[in-house]
Amino acid sequence: MYTFGIDIGSTTSKCVVMKDGTQIVGTSLLVGGIGTKSPAEAVRQALENAGVTREELAGVAATGYGRNRYEDADYHVSELSCHGLGAHHTFPGVRTIIDIGGQDAKVISLDSEGRMQNFLMNDKCAAGTGRFLDVMANILVIPVGELADYCARAKEPAQISSTCTVFAESEVISQLANGVEMEDLVAGICSSVAGRVASLAKRINIVPEVCMSGGVAQNAGVRNALSEKIGHPILFSPNAQLFGAIGAALYAWEKKQ
Ligand code: ADP
Repeated sequence: MYTFGIDIGSTTSKCVVMKDGTQIVGTSLLVGGIGTKSPAEAVRQALENAGVTREELAGVAATGYGRNRYEDADYHVSELSCHGLGAHHTFPGVRTIIDIGGQDAKVISLDSEGRMQNFLMNDKCAAGTGRFLDVMANILVIPVGELADYCARAKEPAQISSTCTVFAESEVISQLANGVEMEDLVAGICSSVAGRVASLAKRINIVPEVCMSGGVAQNAGVRNALSEKIGHPILFSPNAQLFGAIGAALYAWEKKQ
């Protein structure tokens, strides 16, 4: 039985086709979230990638910020539940998920069965989210996917003292003007995001194993700084940005059982 999960985020649309609630047979990831053509195109690409037609899908679940605008779904599910299901599917021992997406950050506690017990969210401030990294990468004219490479070459991370994204933008520009190395600046930027999220995480009981989900999980600079700040290793999967969509496909499968 094939089920489908779509995660329509603030910046990116993600889809997963799953077979029998176990095997991922098709995926897609397209920049462009709610209010764009990306969700429809992401659906098309994932089905093509899986070699499955819409008619063959037993169930479709939508999650993410834009889930309620997606009418072609049998279920609309919160991203907290879906990230929990997706992370537990990938790492059965995971008890704490740190999700950093394009516009918010969440820390989710799971019980040993993978059910959500508690969560905390920052959706009020861009600092501590992917948005902060996107803004800074834009100023420095570096693709977000390359920030981690700069971190790896840093000698001494720069201090970013502004807690507001707009002020931090000016601070980064003035540090650049003062000759601070690009690598040290990027490491400071990643460390600043990690610091904000670590403060959020410390307000919840961090039980290992810990994993990251969301697009920022791909940034090893943030991951390493976060791991150091919370004092726990952080599990990483290349599918981390797809955890919400994986969870949605699993949810549809459970419902159709
Ligand atoms: P949303 O669901 O809100 O759209 P995502 O979980 O998809 O958010 O994450 C989007 C964020 O992930 C972007 O803001 C960007 O900073 C980050 N990101 C995307 N791709 C990469 C990458 N290759 N390396 C590092 N960060 C990335």
